[in-house]
Amino acid sequence: MSTIEDVEVLITNPGRNFVTLRITTSDGVTGLGDATLNGRELAVASYLRDHVAPILTGRDSSSIEDTWQYLYRGAYWRRGPVTMASIAAVDMALWDIKGKVAGLPVYQLLGGAVRRGLLAYGHASGAETPQIFDSIRAHLEEGYRAVRVQTAVPGLGQVYGVAAAGASGSGRYDYEPARPGARPTEEQWDTRAYMRHLPSVFEAVRGEFGPDLPLLHDGHHRMTPNQAGRLGRDLEPYDLFWLEDCTPAENQQGLRRVRELTTQPLAIGEIFNTVWDYQTLITEQLIDYVRSAVTHTGGITHLKKIMDFASLYQIKSGFHGPTDISPVGQAAALHLGLAIHNFGIQEYMRHTDDTLEVFHTSYSFEDGLLHPGDTPGLGVEYDDAAGTSHEYSPAYLPVNRLVDGTMHDW
Ligand SMILES: [Mg+2]
Repeated sequence: MSTIEDVEVLITNPGRNFVTLRITTSDGVTGLGDATLNGRELAVASYLRDHVAPILTGRDSSSIEDTWQYLYRGAYWRRGPVTMASIAAVDMALWDIKGKVAGLPVYQLLGGAVRRGLLAYGHASGAETPQIFDSIRAHLEEGYRAVRVQTAVPGLGQVYGVAAAGASGSGRYDYEPARPGARPTEEQWDTRAYMRHLPSVFEAVRGEFGPDLPLLHDGHHRMTPNQAGRLGRDLEPYDLFWLEDCTPAENQQGLRRVRELTTQPLAIGEIFNTVWDYQTLITEQLIDYVRSAVTHTGGITHLKKIMDFASLYQIKSGFHGPTDISPVGQAAALHLGLAIHNFGIQEYMRHTDDTLEVFHTSYSFEDGLLHPGDTPGLGVEYDDAAGTSHEYSPAYLPVNRLVDGTMHDW
């Protein structure tokens, strides 16, 4: 029996913080798991280092399901983002090891490919319409066949989803909301101003780019169910692929009201951790897409179960995949997405060159489609020398206040 011999927590910051778990077996096989929880990275690192690593060593490295249950049920205090990101990292690393031992990419262990590749969407944004058009064109030139569109709101400053002009001087339109510093920055919000402005932006984008291009939008948890229903209805003429996080959704029943008001396809779940967060949303068919990340939802093992459950209700995947998911977590999403029948779309922002020097990937992006590659395991290797050259430094997601100063959902 091959057992877990070494469990290491690797923290690096090649432009943003990543936490990676590396498990080494008694046979010398290594597996990687992503444990990055944006803005709370060290809590997961401690959970893994102080409470998971000591109880993993000596266990059978091939027992993925049993180890998952051991960590989930064994903690007694279950669920939550820190616990579930920790379990996810162990789960990914064990799938990586199983693939390497078998000589197969993980998607083959999950049943094999059911499509040629995964339709990806990128993040277009801008303060004004000309910048939004430029950003969409830049994404189309990079090969994207679907784009999320976020806009500034007249009268408000920096808002969620809009890339700061010329940020990092890269000339690209990627959006990185976590800002380095000892405290979160503060943004200002006005839901009515946003709801008045947004339909005019989608009218302009549809006018410029025509009816075919799949367009997505993220409401980022800021509306009530009535507001979300109204906005969904106002956007229906522009045929969105989805409206994401239209409400905070902890109140799952609230989505019944949204469904009464609009036929707008809905995507929810990037801040969820388990199938229990989706129970009402799935069984009452209140959403169309599951937004979870493999990294935050207990790994491949648990997200596969959520997706199989969702498949009974014609609900598809739309896994979270911006750059706060490490290349290891992204690779795990691609293996899972390639193997499940109810794949919908995959969020994809290319990581920075510095990040890709730490994480050597084998996934590809061609003609708008992502593919995890055929390297055994997850297909990502960690470069220790590059990783240790970038030290952790605190960075936080912003917080959000209404115009009168009241804290609101960011
Ligand atoms: Mg989102």
